[in-house]
Formats: sequence, structure tokens, C-alpha cells
Amino acid sequence: MELQEEIEATGRELAAAFPAAARHPMRALDEKAMELTSQDAELRAAVFRFVDVVPACRGVDDLARHLSAFLDEVPDRPPPIQAALRMADSRAGRVALGTAAAAGVKHMAHRFIVGETPREVAGLLRNLWRRGIGTSVDLLGEATVTAAEADRYAERCARALDELSSVQGSWPARPILERDSSGPLPRANLSVKVSALTPLLRPDAPERGQRDAAARLRVLLRRAHELDAHLHIDMESLDSRDAVLDLVLELLSEAEFSQGPSAGLVLQAYLRDSPGQLDRVLEWARATPRGSPLTVRLVKGAYWDHEVIEARQHGWPAPVFEDKAACDRNFEALARTLLDARPVVRVAIASHNLRSVAHALVWHRRSGHDDADVEFQVLRGLGDDLQDALASRGLRVRTYCPVGDLVAGMAYLVRRLLENTANESFLAQQGQGAPLEELLAAP
Ligand SMILES: Cc1cc2nc3c(=O)[nH]c(=O)nc-3n(C[C@H](O)[C@H](O)[C@H](O)COP(=O)(O)OP(=O)(O)OC[C@H]3O[C@@H](n4cnc5c(N)ncnc54)[C@H](O)[C@@H]3O)c2cc1C
Repeated sequence: MELQEEIEATGRELAAAFPAAARHPMRALDEKAMELTSQDAELRAAVFRFVDVVPACRGVDDLARHLSAFLDEVPDRPPPIQAALRMADSRAGRVALGTAAAAGVKHMAHRFIVGETPREVAGLLRNLWRRGIGTSVDLLGEATVTAAEADRYAERCARALDELSSVQGSWPARPILERDSSGPLPRANLSVKVSALTPLLRPDAPERGQRDAAARLRVLLRRAHELDAHLHIDMESLDSRDAVLDLVLELLSEAEFSQGPSAGLVLQAYLRDSPGQLDRVLEWARATPRGSPLTVRLVKGAYWDHEVIEARQHGWPAPVFEDKAACDRNFEALARTLLDARPVVRVAIASHNLRSVAHALVWHRRSGHDDADVEFQVLRGLGDDLQDALASRGLRVRTYCPVGDLVAGMAYLVRRLLENTANESFLAQQGQGAPLEELLAAP
């Protein structure tokens, strides 16, 4: 069968395994609000500014005042927004509007953020595990500004590793989640952000930030090794990319970490220079044999708007693809290179795009590797249906579960909302009912 035919058949098979009433992943977002914001860029900007200030508001009246001030700046206001603005004219109206807005933001946040502490979410992680779904816990918090904050984040991460290892020890066996051809896979899996481990991460002086973060990251790597847990280092915006990559590869080259822990990093396919970055990672992996191969999580990238706006402000060419199909094609090319590079690396395909996932799955199967030798990853609240479909096919899937309070989670929440209200987003197109044939077409 031709590659495209096989991808289409695989995509259709996965889509057929989505829960019956769940073909539209946008359904649980406040649909009307999301639909309105997708259609109007000014309104979208106002909503994001509002979501950003919610944690700082002192009460419902304050919330309503901020919301109406932001909405007031939108030139062509649709009728529901006009109605909201009229409510803000009276004290009683503001209380109603503020209460509704607070509930709306909380509702959205809870879709993506599973709870406030690792202990609080232990039951949810266990239920997912029982259903054959692994998890990676992400402690919300990024871009710290003081050393004390960075220390606190590192301590929270160390505590989370302890807690995850202790609760996960008693879970039932799930072979697909626990072993691949390279050996055992840890149950406890934590994702961390380097910008939260140091206040000194600056593009103009990367060494200072690297040194400062290294001290805290080394402690976490040691702890993960002792507890037999996996530590994954997330990738953030481009201004810290090289510093993070250098830091992770340098630390994992140290003799003390040659046998463990299981660790991973992230490759962002929206970056034009990502093929060169992948070559570098693979060269490192071939030259640095480890007890447990480095896991490379392939993503498209969560900071697209930020990268484009920053480049425009400085008059630089955008470092990211500006054509969605070009980004998707690059994701597929990187997926093929990564899958072909096994076993020097472990591969995690992190996407909610059925086409990107089906392409990787078909390439993986064509290579003749065992199904345990590839992992699929999704974000909680966005990839729930895909997660179930993949698990029902006996594939290894891991769900990224952010944990923390609303204040720490705001940047994360805004990124998820930006992604999901963008017209070119796969999930938005799926939510709008685009036919499978179109969704599975080659980019
Ligand atoms: C488990 C997991 C962990 C993750 N960790 C990270 C991480 O550490 N760092 C990180 O940056 N992201 C991370 N992500 C987020 C990920 O980058 C986004 O969820 C992802 O970009 C959405 O892609 P998609 O394939 O699901 O959807 P799609 O809808 O197919 O792709 C959307 C993506 O395409 C890109 N895009 C949008 N518009 C354009 C355009 N006009 N031109 C070119 N490209 C465009 C953007 O990257 C956008 O996010 C993670 C995701 C998962 C599932």
C-alpha cells in the first residue's frame, strides 16, 4: 500500500476508536465563547489579556471591571459581548458578570490543569494508569525571577518525585507502559522547565543561567536516579533553547549520570533550524551511550505567536515556519529521522493532530519495530480522545498532566487557549467538523 493510503487507513481506524460522543474535542471549552474568539482577532486578544489578569483580581467586581475594560476596546462587538458590557454598568450586573467570568476561567483551567498538588491528583494518575495510560506530571511555574523562587520550584520537583514514586509503586502491572526493547521504563515521570530552575537564564549571557540551573537540575537528576524515575526537560521559547539543550546534554554526559536516570528533552518542529538540532542530538546520543537511552519528545512548539511577534518587533526573520503545512511537513520529516535512529534514542511523538500521529505510527510499523518502541504523548484536556484511541490499540500513550494553582498556571492556560482558537489548529478544524479525508491529507 502507498504511504498516504496507509496513513489514511490508520487515521480512520484511530478516529473510529474515539468515544462515540466525543468527535469534537473543543466541546468542553466554553464553546460559544471559543467560537466567538476564534472569529475575531481583537476579541481574542481582549480575552487573553483578561485571562492573564484574573489571578490578580481582588473580587468579582474587580473581575467585571477588567473584563469590561478589555472588551470595550474591541471595535465590532457581537451581541453577547454588548450584553456583557451593559451588565457592567450596574453593581449587581458586575457581580453577575464577574461571577460568571470567574467560573468560566476556572472551568477552562480545570480542563487543562488536573489539580493543585501531586498528592491531590494521585487518584487521577492511578485511574489513567489502570486504563493503560502513563502520565508525566508538570509542576506549573516558569520564568522565576528570584533565587528563592527557583529553590522553591526545585524543592517542589524533588518532593513530587518522592510522592510519585511512593504512590506509583503499588499500581498494577501494565507491561506496555513499563518496558520497551531498550529496557524498563519508569512509572514516575516528571516534566520540568529550566526557566523555573534559575532566574538568570538570559540569551545574552547563557552561561550564568546554565551554571545556576545546573546546580538545581543536578540535584533533581540524582533524586530521579535514586528513585528510578524519569525526568523530562521541557523546551520553552527560542531565546533559551540553546542554553537548555547545552545544559541537558552537558549534565547527561557527566559520569555520574551515565547509567541513569531515564531522561529526555524536547525538539520543536516549528523551528526552521530544528533538523540541525536533531542532528546534534543524535550525534551526541551516538557518542554518549547511556544505561537508558535519551528520550526525544517531538512537538511542533507552543510559543509560535511569541516567536513571530518577537521577530517582527526586532525586524528579524521569523525563526519558526509561518506556513502551517511547512511546519507539519517538517514534523513528519523529523519523526521519520527520529524513528529511524532508534535504539540510540527513545522516541515520543507528542501531537493531537491525527494526521501527524498516523504518519508516525505508519512509519514506525513499516520499520518493523515492536509497538512498545514508540510512545505517543498528549496534553490533558486536549488529547483525551486520542489518548483513549491509542491505548485501545495497545499503543503506549502518556498524558502530560499540569499540576498547580491558577496563578502559576496562567501562562500555560493562555498558551493552550491561543493554540485552540487559532484557525489552523488541527483540533479547531476537527471541532468545526472538517471531513476526515481533509484532516488526514498530506500537508
Ligand atoms: C506531551 C506534550 C508535551 C509538550 N511539551 C512541549 C514543550 O516542552 N515545549 C513546547 O514548545 N511545546 C510542547 N508541547 C506543546 C506542543 O508544542 C503543542 O501542543 C503543539 O504545538 C500542538 O501541535 P499539534 O500537532 O497537536 O496540533 P496542530 O494543530 O497540528 O499544530 C499546531 C501547532 O502548529 C504550529 N503552527 C500554528 N500555526 C502555524 C503557522 N501559521 N505556521 C507554522 N506553524 C504553525 C504551532 O506550533 C502550533 O502549536 C507539548 C505537547 C504535548 C502533547
